[in-house]
Amino acid sequence: MSSAVVVSSENLDGQQQSSSTPVIPAAENKVNLLGMSRPELEKFFEDIGEKKFRAGQVMKWIHQYFVTDFAEMTNISGKLRAKLEQICEIKAPEVVHRHYSKDGTRKWVFRVGEGAGSLVETVLIPAEDKTGLRKTLCISSQVGCALDCSFCSTGKQGFQRDLTPDEIIGQLWMANYSYMEEVPVAERERSVTNVVMMGMGEPLLNYDAVLSSMQIMLDDFAYGMSKRRVTLSTSGVVPKIDQLAKDIDVALAISLHAPNDELRNELVPINKKYPLAQLIAACQRYIAKDGNESTRKHVTIEYVMLEGVNDQPEHAQQMIKLLKNLPSKINLIPFNPFPHAPYGRSSRNRIISFQKTLSDAGFVCTIRQTRGDDIDAACGQLVGQVADRTRRAEQWQKKVTQRQEILRTQG
Ligand code: SAH
Ligand code: SF4
Repeated sequence: MSSAVVVSSENLDGQQQSSSTPVIPAAENKVNLLGMSRPELEKFFEDIGEKKFRAGQVMKWIHQYFVTDFAEMTNISGKLRAKLEQICEIKAPEVVHRHYSKDGTRKWVFRVGEGAGSLVETVLIPAEDKTGLRKTLCISSQVGCALDCSFCSTGKQGFQRDLTPDEIIGQLWMANYSYMEEVPVAERERSVTNVVMMGMGEPLLNYDAVLSSMQIMLDDFAYGMSKRRVTLSTSGVVPKIDQLAKDIDVALAISLHAPNDELRNELVPINKKYPLAQLIAACQRYIAKDGNESTRKHVTIEYVMLEGVNDQPEHAQQMIKLLKNLPSKINLIPFNPFPHAPYGRSSRNRIISFQKTLSDAGFVCTIRQTRGDDIDAACGQLVGQVADRTRRAEQWQKKVTQRQEILRTQG
């Protein structure tokens, strides 16, 4: 087999894209090894009558040297290579658009099925910190999302389908590969330092595929990432938070966005099923888990700042009460508007005073920098061209106007 990555020159904003990525003709019924965790790959090799240590060898070729052509796997016998070429492949999802921003942000749009509704995005955001240059990759877990948070453009798209493990890990593979397309195999090194499961979709509703992908991220035979540098973000699927605590040690972020049930029911509708008291208790259990505590000293609380909706002084006070027994770091996210979005972004002053209230109460509270605006890479703007969000957005617009009216009359 030649190679495995299909890169199209088509793109979504009419810009010509070029690629040196090799192309493979579509293979019928070949097993894709890209998304297999080590236990799965070991079983695969045993099933085909080979030794299971081959799993580690092949994983290194795929995830550390970014080799997709079995012919290049020089520590594997010619006979086994020929066998592998016949029955399997290493195939990342198809890139239909890529854009590298002036500020270093990179974005890829992958096609994972037929039609315009089958696109997912991945964004890489670089930042300097005390450990050097951090490159954080924001990975998608589903096409669309069923949970319909009122301020989220993915939610307005509805749910199409779960991503498969190869489509999830393929995003990390492709981002790393983008830095080394021209680099000889022996000199290749991974570039992505951090992963956040904060792209499209609710990762805990695609549990098995996300778990298996995160196992590959942590595996020393693959990306060998530190567990503190892999973060799963959830809107609060409580039973799955407990499951996650048992299965893997990664950092947890919670999309809170409202400090009381009434408001959260509106902004994050899954709150009706798992209200705040249950969510906070699940976070406390996650931290208290018997596993290695270094990952689990705190959870990150994400809070999108919506003008006149959840950014008032009383909301900050309610946050302080709500989180008083939960070791947490709070990240305030300036809202990223999208067409027909029924909200506005809180003013800079409002966000800073909200932050100050929380900091004064003893919380570590940061404000997320918005990056990659020139390529629509900011959170919540993934895959902008969405067909059916207009009606839902109009309904929300009405509710928000009513709420703003009430706030105004209350002074
Ligand atoms: N479904 C998961 C992960 C994906 S959303 C979750 O909700 O946590 C990733 C983050 O982006 C969440 O905190 C989400 O609330 C936030 N987000 C969604 N839409 C946004 C918008 N328009 N502006 C700013 N942040 C947004
Ligand atoms: Fe889904 Fe997260 Fe968007 Fe809510 S914020 S709709 S859970 S992707």
